[in-house]
Amino acid sequence: MFRAIAEQGTFSLKFKRYGTSVLGAPLYYLPSVLKTELLVIAGIHGEEAEGVFLLSRIIRSLNQPLEKTAFVLAANPDGLFLGTRANANGVDLNRNWPTKNWKKDKCFSRPYLESKPEIELSAGKSGASEPETKALLDLIQKLSPKQILAIHSPLACIDSLKRTPVVLALEKVFSLPWVEDIGYPTPGSLGSWCKENKVECITLELPRQSGEEIVRDYQKGFTEILMNDI
Ligand SMILES: [Zn+2]
Repeated sequence: MFRAIAEQGTFSLKFKRYGTSVLGAPLYYLPSVLKTELLVIAGIHGEEAEGVFLLSRIIRSLNQPLEKTAFVLAANPDGLFLGTRANANGVDLNRNWPTKNWKKDKCFSRPYLESKPEIELSAGKSGASEPETKALLDLIQKLSPKQILAIHSPLACIDSLKRTPVVLALEKVFSLPWVEDIGYPTPGSLGSWCKENKVECITLELPRQSGEEIVRDYQKGFTEILMNDI
């Protein structure tokens, strides 16, 4: 099931393309073998590369795709390339989902965790105005997963409406608390879209650690969760 460590510098599994970013980068996902039950998404925010690094290490360690878990390694490749939370149009892709609560207003992000949300970003011209959001929406509708696990950082909690077995397992592996609500409004977020469309959504907010520490501390336990038939 696992590749030798010496082989893990590169990917052996084949990604499929599901779209193109504003700057023309390919959007890739790694399909599951059977019907996708869980879709794991990292890199919606380009300033949160830790989750991408963690998933990349996990995918590179595998010698075959998982039965029921599919992956989007980097949902916002332009943001990761530019080092920005938003995409190349300055749109926060986690405020751009076509939900009833989507708002055209500006949205704000924090320069760092302790500071006020003062950096102005956009929620887009309309819900799913951005190619990255639209492509991911189409992919979710095509795969129709039972659960979505979106990886963010660094709020150090697990946010979901229900404390499902996956949530309990994540709490244990990451030593993080479960919260029913993130504590501030997130109009047009993927979580809001999931709630409206009856898809279970778990947001894993990684702790405030370096990507390298996160891989060291959680790769093994997180891989075991993903490999279980969820
Ligand atoms: Zn985030």
